[in-house]
Amino acid sequence: MYNENNIFAKIIKGQIPCEKVYEDKNVLFFNDINPMAKIHVLGIPKIFCVDFSDFILKSEDSIVSDFFKKTEMVIDTLGIRETGYKIFSNSGVNGGQEVPHFHIHILGGEKVKL
Ligand code: AMP
Repeated sequence: MYNENNIFAKIIKGQIPCEKVYEDKNVLFFNDINPMAKIHVLGIPKIFCVDFSDFILKSEDSIVSDFFKKTEMVIDTLGIRETGYKIFSNSGVNGGQEVPHFHIHILGGEKVKL
């Protein structure tokens, strides 16, 4: 069950600020408030979904495709396509997810220790 009071839903609705990296009508990429590497960007679809599975199961193929294409575009914009990066998404209790709105982490800019 999606809880609209989570912090990323508030960011999407403009109720809480964030350091935007890229935004359009379907997606938002912004800097993580507690970076784990020199570059640490979070990417979220604007559709309300709890985690990766929820996003895939409830979204049109075009929305899923658009999200991952935009992720790659942001990776290029960040200048880390050639030097490398780590992308991941935490889900649920066992995945250690803190914010219950699907997001991917993009880490780079240095050798990522994780
Ligand atoms: P996760 O454990 O995958 O749910 O990660 C949640 C991430 O959101 C963590 O890396 C936090 O540092 C980050 N975070 C929490 N609140 C904010 C915020 N207001 N702006 C940017 N990043 C945030």
